[in-house]
Amino acid sequence: MIKFLDLQAVNARFQDEITARFNAISGSARYLLGEENANFCKHFSAFCGTNYALGCGNGLDALRLIIQAYGFSKGDEIIVPANTYIATILAITENGCTPVFVEPDINTYCIAPDLIEEKISERTKAILVVHLYGQACDMAKIWELAKKYNLKIIEDSAQAHGACYQNKKVGNLGDASGFSFYPGKNLGCFGDGGAVTSNDEELYLKVKAIANYGSHIKYHNIYKGINSRLDEIQAAVLDIKLKYLDEDNAKRRIIAEKYCTSIHNPAIILPQVKDKNSHVWHVFVVRTAKRDALQNYLKEKGIETIIHYPIPPHKQEAYKEYNALSLPITEKIHREVLSLPMSPVMKENEAEFVIETLNNWKAE
Ligand SMILES: *Cc1c(COP(=O)(O)O)cnc(C)c1O
Repeated sequence: MIKFLDLQAVNARFQDEITARFNAISGSARYLLGEENANFCKHFSAFCGTNYALGCGNGLDALRLIIQAYGFSKGDEIIVPANTYIATILAITENGCTPVFVEPDINTYCIAPDLIEEKISERTKAILVVHLYGQACDMAKIWELAKKYNLKIIEDSAQAHGACYQNKKVGNLGDASGFSFYPGKNLGCFGDGGAVTSNDEELYLKVKAIANYGSHIKYHNIYKGINSRLDEIQAAVLDIKLKYLDEDNAKRRIIAEKYCTSIHNPAIILPQVKDKNSHVWHVFVVRTAKRDALQNYLKEKGIETIIHYPIPPHKQEAYKEYNALSLPITEKIHREVLSLPMSPVMKENEAEFVIETLNNWKAE
């Protein structure tokens, strides 16, 4: 069987290095906010090109911490693409803010820059962009709008570690960015982990305090904070894997290139790539009107696929207040997308088998 993502093989490559660090941590009895965390944050901010990076508990926390630290709350609106993982929306609503949904560009699946301005109101505080599937959003127009209306740009970079826009890395394309290190992400740890990156010292220090019970100094609590920290074990795994991230992203690009040049099936729509060298292919998403039939066919042939995602946030039961909204492009995407096997350990012959199988598919 061809797995969607062979995580065991992904991490087996670092096993010896990781075991050695685990032993050191175990012996040190320093499990939180120690050297591993400090080292990883230093290296990750350098990787992104930002002045600061703060480790936290997960990607959702990274985003909600940013929104809380900016002081956005009830009555404030945040512009967000309608087609994203639920965490992006939860980060907004957990702070009491209102998500204002914008349709994506049907070709890139990222927020459509031309549809943003009409959604900006007196109450708008920020544009939360999502670099979906591993491709950076088209930022030029978004930068312009943020400046014109004095809005913050928050990035959800959970799917795009290492992706670039105009030679700048994601995480450094706005005012602050949230990352997830969930095991299956391009940079993933051995459980939950996340980070906030920014060039804004004030924001960074505030997020740092809020993530640690609202205190800069132990037992002095200046904010109503939360407990969201990146532990030493996860930081160690990430610090090791970070060294190989660019290389791994390049391997994903090779598989993607193969898919893009060799899948020829009129019933299957391939992803459109703005800049081949800067997409990091967290997932390789194709689209077809007969999505479920294609998924079943591939399953029968031994090819595992995943749908990112089957139900858009505004149609979720948890968001009944938005269920009546009509967002046709978003809804079409959710009906039609399918993610093919993709990882830095995928073998050439596996990719070839996927290609051949797709080319032989007849959509009835
Ligand atoms: C994974 C993901 C998150 C959430 O990250 P967690 O670490 O699971 O909390 C947020 N946004 C997007 C786009 C994601 O893919």
